[in-house]
Amino acid sequence: MISRLRNNFRLTIITLLGLVTAVVLGSFLVWRLARGDWGVAALDGAVVLTMIAVVRLAWREERTERAGAWMAVLNSGFAMLACLTLGQTASGWVYVVLMTNFYLAPLRVATWSGAALLLTASVTLLWRDIGPYHISTLVTWSLVYAFSLVFARRLRTHSTSLELLASLDPLTRIPNRGMLEADLRHAIATGRNGRAGLLILDIDRFKAVNDTFGHAAGDAVLIDLAALLRGELRQGDSVYRFGGEEFVMLLPLDSEQALTRAAERVRDAVASRVVGPGGRITVAVGGAMLSAERDWQDWFARADASLYQAKRAGGNAIHIAEPL
Ligand code: GH3
Ligand code: MG
Ligand code: MG
Repeated sequence: MISRLRNNFRLTIITLLGLVTAVVLGSFLVWRLARGDWGVAALDGAVVLTMIAVVRLAWREERTERAGAWMAVLNSGFAMLACLTLGQTASGWVYVVLMTNFYLAPLRVATWSGAALLLTASVTLLWRDIGPYHISTLVTWSLVYAFSLVFARRLRTHSTSLELLASLDPLTRIPNRGMLEADLRHAIATGRNGRAGLLILDIDRFKAVNDTFGHAAGDAVLIDLAALLRGELRQGDSVYRFGGEEFVMLLPLDSEQALTRAAERVRDAVASRVVGPGGRITVAVGGAMLSAERDWQDWFARADASLYQAKRAGGNAIHIAEPL
C-alpha cells in the first residue's frame, strides 16, 4: 500500500485530499445537523460521500486517471456551490481546488474546471461587496490559478520530451527496442494475427567494417542504413533499432506473399543504396507473419530463425517463416 502511494503521485493526492476533506466536512456535517442547517448539511454530506467514492475508485483501478479527473471536476463543482451558498466561508477551499486540480486531472480538464470555478467564485465574491479584502482575494485566486497552469504546462512539455528521449536510439534517432517490444505486444493484444509482419535485418560482415575502418565508420553506416530504412516505410510501417547492427520492421500486411515482397524490396534497396567505406553494405532479412503467438518473444523467435536461414544462404538474402 505504501509503495503504491510512493510510486503514484496522483493516488497520493487523491487519497490525502479525499480523506482530509471527508473528515473535516464530516465534522461540519454533524455540527450543521445539530444546528438544523439542513441545506448546508446536505452539501457537506454529498461532498463526504463523493470523496469516499472517488478514493475507492482510485484504489480499485490500476490507473488513476479517471478518478483524478472525476475528483477535479467534482471538487470544482462543490467549491462553486459552496461559494454560492456560503460566500466568504468557502474562499479558502477555492485556493486548494484551483491548485490541486492540476495534480489530479489532465491539463485540459484542470484548466476548464479551474476557470469555471475562478469565474463563479469571483462573481459571487464581488456581488456581495467590493472592498480591499475582496479585491486581494480575487487577485490571489487568479495568481494561484495562473501559476499552477503555467507550471503544469511546463511539466507536461518536459515529460513529453523525456518520454521521447527514452524511446529513441541515440545514434540513429529511430525508435529503440523498448518501443519495439511495446508495439509487438500491442499488435498481439489487438488481435492482428495474419495482418502484421515482422522483418529482422542484420548487416552482413559488419564486424569487418569496424575492424578495418574503425568504430566511427561503423557508426556512420548504421546511421545511413537507419535513414534508408526510414525512407522505405509505407503507411503504418515502423522501423526500430533492436540493438547492435540489427534492425526490425513492423508492417501491417495481410499475406506471407506481401511480407516476402517487402523483404525483397528492403534487401534490394540496402544493397543498391547503402555504401560503406569498404564498398556496398548488404543485409540478411528474416521474416514472420504474426500467427497464433501469445508472446512477442515467440513471434520474434520465428523471424530470428528465418534470419539465421538467410545468413546461412550467405547473406544479402531473405527468408520468411512458414505459417504455424
Ligand atoms: P554476420 O555477417 O554473421 O552478421 O557477421 P557480423 O560481423 O555482422 O556479425 P557480428 O555479430 O560478429 O558483429 C556485429 C558487430 O557489430 C560487432 C560490433 O562491434 C558491431 N556493433 C554493434 N553495435 C555497434 C555500434 O553501435 N557501432 C558500431 N560501430 N559497431 C557496432
Ligand atoms: Mg548481429
Ligand atoms: Mg551482422
